Amino acid sequence: MTQYVYRFGGGVSDGGAGDKNLLGGKGANLDGMAAIGLPVPPGFTITTAMCTRYYDEGEVFPDSLRDEVANGIAHIEAVTGKRFGDAADPLLVSVRSGARVSMPGMMDTVLNLGLNDQTVEGLAASSGDARFAWDSYRRFIQMYADVVLELDHGSFEEALEIAKEDKGFYLDTELTAQDLRSLVGSYKALVEEQWGKPFPQDVHDQLWGAVGAVFGSWQSERAKVYRRLNNIPGDWGTAVNVQAMVFGNMGETSATGVAFTRDPATGENAYYGEFLINAQGEDVVAGIRTPQYLTKAARERANAKPLSMEEAMPDVYGQLANVFNILETHYRDMQDIEFTVERGKLWMLQTRSGKRTAKAALKIAVDMAEQGLITREEAVARVDPAALDQLLHPTLDPAAVRDVLAKGLPASPGAASGIAVFDSDTAEKRAEMGESVILVRMETSPEDIHGMHAAKGILTARGGMTSHAAVVARGMGRPCVSGAGNVAIDSKEGVFRVGGREVREGEVITIDGSSGEVMFGEVATVQPELSGDFGTLMVWADAARRMKVRANAETPADCRIARDFGAEGVGLCRTEHMFFEAGRITAVRQMILAEDEAGRRAALAKLLPEQRADFKGIFEVMAGLPVTIRLLDPPLHEFLPTEESDFADVAEAAGVGIDILKRRAAELHEFNPMLGHRGCRLGVTYPEIYEMQARAIFEAACDLNDSPIPEVMVPLVGTRRELELMKEVIDRTAEAVFAERGKRITYLVGTMIELPRAALMAGEIAEVGAFFSFGTNDLTQTTLGVSRDDASRFLTQYVDKGIYAQDPFVSLDIDGVGQLVQLAAERGRATRPDIKLGICGEHGGDPASIHFCERVGLDYVSASPYRVPIARLAAAQAALRKG
Ligand code: ADP
Ligand code: MG
Ligand code: MG
Repeated sequence: MTQYVYRFGGGVSDGGAGDKNLLGGKGANLDGMAAIGLPVPPGFTITTAMCTRYYDEGEVFPDSLRDEVANGIAHIEAVTGKRFGDAADPLLVSVRSGARVSMPGMMDTVLNLGLNDQTVEGLAASSGDARFAWDSYRRFIQMYADVVLELDHGSFEEALEIAKEDKGFYLDTELTAQDLRSLVGSYKALVEEQWGKPFPQDVHDQLWGAVGAVFGSWQSERAKVYRRLNNIPGDWGTAVNVQAMVFGNMGETSATGVAFTRDPATGENAYYGEFLINAQGEDVVAGIRTPQYLTKAARERANAKPLSMEEAMPDVYGQLANVFNILETHYRDMQDIEFTVERGKLWMLQTRSGKRTAKAALKIAVDMAEQGLITREEAVARVDPAALDQLLHPTLDPAAVRDVLAKGLPASPGAASGIAVFDSDTAEKRAEMGESVILVRMETSPEDIHGMHAAKGILTARGGMTSHAAVVARGMGRPCVSGAGNVAIDSKEGVFRVGGREVREGEVITIDGSSGEVMFGEVATVQPELSGDFGTLMVWADAARRMKVRANAETPADCRIARDFGAEGVGLCRTEHMFFEAGRITAVRQMILAEDEAGRRAALAKLLPEQRADFKGIFEVMAGLPVTIRLLDPPLHEFLPTEESDFADVAEAAGVGIDILKRRAAELHEFNPMLGHRGCRLGVTYPEIYEMQARAIFEAACDLNDSPIPEVMVPLVGTRRELELMKEVIDRTAEAVFAERGKRITYLVGTMIELPRAALMAGEIAEVGAFFSFGTNDLTQTTLGVSRDDASRFLTQYVDKGIYAQDPFVSLDIDGVGQLVQLAAERGRATRPDIKLGICGEHGGDPASIHFCERVGLDYVSASPYRVPIARLAAAQAALRKG
């Protein structure tokens, strides 16, 4: 029989440690912590397999589960010496969700379950603290009503506010036992009013209600949105953890807190966290009271008065520091921890690998490798290549003038400018319209995930460094300033006010998530720093990598950036952009409008010196490295005007009549330009164009001492004969230039593989071409029969409905397009064993696609300059995984 309940704590274990798939991350690590002797309240986990079965069988629990759960409760009772539902000394439990990966959107935890009108009296007597007992009961009703019964939580908060106002109190902790007892009365009345039934008094009903709610939350809208954004399969399911309560709300020697074993923003090897005295679980993250710092150093740095835990509770702090060390050694990674202190004793409630910024990820990986905690290869494997993006983009220019409006907490580093927007739906809408948006909220909740995702940055008025906004923003790599307390937000009116000034929706602000500053207007930025930990990790990555990394670049400036980022060549230099430049476009048009070859040659002669200069500039920067140059690719009509108002000027500049221009434009019109007269089809009909480009390439190369290796690439080849014809033109031109200059250089002629026929006929094509570069943008379009420029109308739905696993233009369709790449690579190699193989589509910068390229054995990937480091790291990880 399948076991669905796994016990942990109190020296008993059913061996769940480490099995995150079955027990969820939380459950697996609770057992893991207990197993290494850390203080964990006893409990049990109902497996994710049960969740899947629950949904398979129409949302019912099998009878056998009741026995297993009873067994689990008996385990907790045995360890704690209390009984569930006992009127004299009741056992209370928490019910917690826990998926394989931590997932906002899942059910919130229910604490203090097991309290009712009788047991609350027992708890008061056994603890000797009536206030504590009634505080726990009112918390329980409030949470249960919210997360299990799904009643209007606002009305409960209101009742609490009224109770405080009645007494002129400011803090929850000021309410007395009597106040709380009458608040419980109001809460129960609210439940009955809204739910139509009295608050459940049977503790077993309470428990099954909560368990059902955890499983139910797996299919909640919030959870589904999160899964979609993060590619989490719907059939993973969640586990449920039931655990004995420990109480942080038992007075001044009790507390609750969250901590990281290292600083998650900077990676600094220093404990980092917050705690609240006389409080329970969620109080810290909810921002109800301002939490206190864990360490003295952090308190002093923030200039805060309330004592740190290191100062206020030195003994507990010592226990905690010891636990931090044990956890880091055991899990060999930075940990994110939840703990509670009950009357001076520390209890561990959760540990997991902590989310961190890219900067922190780098520093922690490098530090841990240097400490000998992990190997260099592990350090390389640890850093998410996509997260490097955060570091590779500009930060605020320290010299720029800043009109600072407010200061909050530096919750997630990086800088962003954009228009202020006050709700997540608007943020999403305006971002879709191409605007940069800063989401400004009082505080965020899981309902804001889509808005945070759409925003360039997030600003909140409430919440600390571990608030929802801060944690989620760090995970997403969005800059975030949290807890900017002076900012008064009126989201209904669409305005925030601070220091006598106003910012309305649509006005531009800048936030600096590294300093916490909020500025009016846009602030200038500077290029990122690429040495330090980044440089160290990149050296380790390069040592592990097999594939080369090149850049897609077409100007000397882009080539410079690419080389600074470590590019080992140019994988795609497009030449059409050079044709558009002012001063040249006229010659290009004359060429297009010429009546015969002689006319075209005359126009091309004007372009030759310009093209030669272009290539020279690029070759100089790339000093001897390979440069793949693609000959002219787009259809010629793209160079002619489309607006009626432009025709006269263009005709005059080109020196032809306006009617000739119009006729030619009409002749060039195509119904389906993507499949029209373009790529090598231009070279076949007008060989003189490719001849001029080849001449420019060879003359530029011959002119330089540090001779590059030009790789002349013919686009859109579908047959061997096309490439043969074009290669003849190129070779003939090369020989002519070499004869004129009295010098030879090495060069290659090859082709882009971007048509399915080219992939299929790769064996033949390789007889002519010395290299293949997979143009996976067009290969995706032509294989899927989907136009990239027109796909936006249905692509989102295609991804939502699971037709495409991901946007195939972002991440390679490995199952489909990937087959063509693999087949072409195999057939090409069979003909020409030393054929050079690379990829130059957008996918060359996408980690998942790079893993595929490694598996197929490509020689290099080519990505846009800013993505080169991402590609270097991803290529290293791919090689490590394969090896
Ligand atoms: P989340 O996954 O949202 O962090 P958790 O299940 O970890 O939810 O619980 C939320 C809060 O409740 C945490 O602060 C945790 O420390 C607290 N908590 C959970 N279980 C217990 C318990 N048995 N005793 C005391 N506090 C608890
Ligand atoms: Mg937690
Ligand atoms: Mg193409």
